[in-house]
Amino acid sequence: MSDHSTRFLKTKIVCTIGPASSEPRVIKRLCEAGMNMARLNMAHGTPDQIRQLAQRLRENTSNLGHPVALLADLQGPKIRLGDVPETIELSPGQNVAFISGEKPDGAALPVTYANFAEDLSAGDRILIDDGQVELLVRKIDPPRVEAEVVIGGPISKGKGINLPGVHVSAPPLTDKDLSDIDLALEIGVDYLGLSFVRRASDIQQLRERIPDDILIIAKIEKDVALQDLDAILDASDAAMVARGDLGTELPFEQVPLVQKRIVRLANSNYRPVIIATQMLETMIERPRPTRAEISDVANAILDGTDAVMLAAETAAGQYPVESVEALTRVIGEIESTTLMVQGPTYDVPAGVNDEGEPEPTEVAIAGATAEAVRVLHSPAIVTFTTSGFTARVVSSRRPPVPIIAVTDTDRVYRQLSMVWGVLPVLCQLEQTYENMWASARTELLRRGIAREGDRIVVTAGVPFHVSRTTNMVRIESL
Ligand code: PGA
Ligand code: MN
Repeated sequence: MSDHSTRFLKTKIVCTIGPASSEPRVIKRLCEAGMNMARLNMAHGTPDQIRQLAQRLRENTSNLGHPVALLADLQGPKIRLGDVPETIELSPGQNVAFISGEKPDGAALPVTYANFAEDLSAGDRILIDDGQVELLVRKIDPPRVEAEVVIGGPISKGKGINLPGVHVSAPPLTDKDLSDIDLALEIGVDYLGLSFVRRASDIQQLRERIPDDILIIAKIEKDVALQDLDAILDASDAAMVARGDLGTELPFEQVPLVQKRIVRLANSNYRPVIIATQMLETMIERPRPTRAEISDVANAILDGTDAVMLAAETAAGQYPVESVEALTRVIGEIESTTLMVQGPTYDVPAGVNDEGEPEPTEVAIAGATAEAVRVLHSPAIVTFTTSGFTARVVSSRRPPVPIIAVTDTDRVYRQLSMVWGVLPVLCQLEQTYENMWASARTELLRRGIAREGDRIVVTAGVPFHVSRTTNMVRIESL
C-alpha cells in the first residue's frame, strides 16, 4: 500500500481509538493510512487508560508534518442496562420488569437512569443493544416498569437502551460527563462531542464549562433533535450524524434522507459534519469491506460530508489499518473523478439564511473566494486564519481546490485537520502580510499544488492576531 501521508484528500477520516489501536505502532500506521482525527470514546476506559491513550496519541501524531486532532466523545444522557451478572436470553412474549439503579433487585433488570418509570408510559417501546431486542411497556408501577418482549435475544451488562419518541428528562450532562469534561481538558483535547443532544441549550450548557478555543460537535442521534436542528447547529461548532443511535431512535429507513438533510444544513450553516457508524462494519472481523459498505462511504462523500468516521473498526476490530486504507481508497477514487476536478456533485448552499438577515463577513469572503477560483482557474486558496472560523466558512462553500489554512495556533492547526478541503499550515502570524504570503507560497510550490505563474486567491484579516477580522480577498501571482 502506498504512503498516504503526502497525499491530499479533501474528505477527512476520524478513527476511534481503543484496544485494537492503542499501541504506538498501530497509531503510527493509522496516521500513515490517512487518519485526520482520533476519537476517544469517554464511555469506555478508566481515566488512567484515557490519559495514557491521549499521551500516546500526542507523542505519535505531533511530528508528522500534518495535524491530527483529538476528540473526546462524551456519553451524555445515554441509558444503559445496569449490572446484570451474566447474559440473559429474552424470548418473545416474556414479561420483564425494569428498575432504576446499578445493581439487580430481585427479578427486575437494573437501568442506569433514575427517571425511567417517570418518563415512560404504557405503549412505549424499549430497545436494547441497538434495537436488537425490543419490548413494549405494559404497566408503570413506580419505580418498576413492566414490559413484554416483542423481539427476543441476548442482553448483558452495560448494553445501551433507546426509548424512541420518549421525552427523556435527564439533564444533558450527567455526573460522569462532568468528570469526563475535566479529564478531557486535562489531556488537552481539541474537540468535545456531546451525545444525545436534544436542543440548543444542551450545547450552551457544555459551552459554559469549557474554554472558548475547544470546539463542540453536536451528535445528532435523537428524533427530537431533528425538530430543532437549525438552532442546534447554530449553537455548535460541528455536527456528527451518529447513525448508530439515530437508526434506533428513528425507523431505520429514515436514516439515509436524514443524513442528507443534516449534511446539507450543516454545510449551509458552515459547520463541518462527520458521518459515523457502521461504515465498514464487516471489517471488524474481515479484511475486506462489502460492496454495500463501499457504496455507503462513497455516497457519504457525494452527500458532501466533511469526514467519515470509524468506530469499532479501529477501536476493537482485527483490521484497523486496513479499514483506514479502505476509506482512503474510496475517497481518493471519488475525489479524483468528481470533487477535485469539477467541484461537488450536489448543490452548494449559497450561504444566505432564510430570514434574509445579514451574514458574517466571512460568508461574503467565502463566496467571493469560490467565485474568484472559478474564473481565474486558481489551483488553491490561501486563508490566514486565527480561530479557524474563516477556513471553515470558506470550506463550507466547497471550492474545487485545496484551501491552505495558515494559522499560528497549535490547537487551530489541529482542529482544521477534519475540515473538508483544508490543508492546515502552522506558521507565525505576527509577521507582515508579505512574510505570511511568502510562507504560504513556499508551501504551495513545495507540495506541488501550484506552479509559477498561477494566480492564488488569498483571504486574510487585518490585524492578523485578532480573531473574526477577516475582511479582505487578494489575488496573488506566483
Ligand atoms: P456512540 O455514537 O458510538 O457514542 O453511540 C455514535 C452513534 O450513535 O452512531
Ligand atoms: Mn450514539
